[in-house]
Amino acid sequence: MPIEPDTKDWTWVLHRPCPECGTDATAHSPATLPDVLRDAVVRWEAVLRRPDAARRPDDSTWSPLEYAAHVRDVCEVFRGRLELMLAEDDPTFADWDQDAAAVAGRYAEQDAGSVAEALAANARAVADAFAAVPQDRWERGGLRSNGSVFTVRTLSQYFAHDVLHHLHDVGG
Ligand SMILES: [Zn+2]
Repeated sequence: MPIEPDTKDWTWVLHRPCPECGTDATAHSPATLPDVLRDAVVRWEAVLRRPDAARRPDDSTWSPLEYAAHVRDVCEVFRGRLELMLAEDDPTFADWDQDAAAVAGRYAEQDAGSVAEALAANARAVADAFAAVPQDRWERGGLRSNGSVFTVRTLSQYFAHDVLHHLHDVGG
């Protein structure tokens, strides 16, 4: 079975702890996210040093390398969304098809060391961007094209869960 597109709406993680990875996203904020990311980078670097990081556990599941490449790109997408929310009032985010990005970006053929470096750089950049937002701007809004409403605060929470959930996916 090939990789099935993940079309699930994950915004419920903003309301209750995730039963799969155990993350309580509501505990996070733009202030705590940088520490989450710093810790996650160390764990992703360890995942990417595994000799079998490029191997899929089964045909329909991304390899740890592919998950890491995804997280590397998620960091960029979320930094872009944050910048947009700070620059405009209630912007609508551009669509991002993560499965199309994985194919177009040839995630499966990436070099693990390069992915580790880029993931660390992107995570640092987005951590700095969230850390720089003053608390009185945390409730600024943004919309996903499917209608999901975010604030800077809930975007940081959703993002924290995403990074931690994928570490859970790969046992990292
Ligand atoms: Zn989760």
